[in-house]
Amino acid sequence: AARLKQGLTRTREHLGKQLTSVFTRNVKIDEELYEELETILLSADVGIDATTFLLDDLRKRVKREKLTDSQQLQGALQQAMHDLLLPLEQPLHTEQNKPFIIMMVGVNGAGKTTTIGKLAKYFQSQGKSVLLAAGDTFRAAAREQLVVWGERNNVTVITQESGDSAAVIFDAINAAKARGIDIVLADTAGRLPTQLHLMEELKKVKRVIAKADPTAPHEIILVLDANTGQNAIAQVKSFDDAIGVTGLVLTKLDGTAKGGVISAIAKVRPIPIRFIGVGETMDDLRPFVAREFVEALFE
Ligand code: GDP
Repeated sequence: AARLKQGLTRTREHLGKQLTSVFTRNVKIDEELYEELETILLSADVGIDATTFLLDDLRKRVKREKLTDSQQLQGALQQAMHDLLLPLEQPLHTEQNKPFIIMMVGVNGAGKTTTIGKLAKYFQSQGKSVLLAAGDTFRAAAREQLVVWGERNNVTVITQESGDSAAVIFDAINAAKARGIDIVLADTAGRLPTQLHLMEELKKVKRVIAKADPTAPHEIILVLDANTGQNAIAQVKSFDDAIGVTGLVLTKLDGTAKGGVISAIAKVRPIPIRFIGVGETMDDLRPFVAREFVEALFE
């Protein structure tokens, strides 16, 4: 929890501290106060939908609990935020399929490659075997990065010098089956040459995965850079509309004051947040726990 708190420093300073300064002021709860809260929430990328929802919820709590001054508001807002985020807290379970096939998607720079490495180690630490499919065939550097990483960490990486993404992943699934591997992490492209359409390519990859295993993909994880704020919301919508995202990883929460974007996601497209990234090391990928997150924000 201390690590999480540290990781969320910037969001805490921006959002948590500003809110706390309102709460500790000991003034009457009036429209002016709500407006002040609205400004703070919006400036931390909570987004208009979630902000409206949270403030409506807060008004109800104030009425129900007969709160009168700003000092009593903190607990109520914390609880409102917790209740909003709780549905997103759904840990990833991989036991029901073997291999459990995870398709990893996200735009370049979001932290997809780093997250794949962190996830591989996370699963290994649970005693599971992992195989990586270097499906970002449009970026030689991404492929090489994965291969080097795999060698260093004793994880098999299936790759092809040339060839398309879907073919590499198809091969990787068959290799995983032959070797009795528990988890396949399939990387995909994050950007294509302009004449090609990323979503069409990802749809094709998804179809080919289903050819290798009719029950798969078992999970489609979208990796999002929290720094991109409201743009991350646009990404969630377009990837989800195209291929049906089943889980999110929100990276780089440590480097941003825009942690409020989690609340925006909860309101706009409530897809489970499987993990959050709060730093560059292995330990900095943490399962998302709503209570822990909200507490770290306000402490
Ligand atoms: P990709 O293009 O999506 O594969 O992105 P990369 O995995 O190469 O990551 C881009 C940059 O973001 C790298 O410098 C990573 O070290 C960094 N990065 C990824 N996740 C995190 C995180 O949670 N926190 C921080 N601070 N940096 C991260």
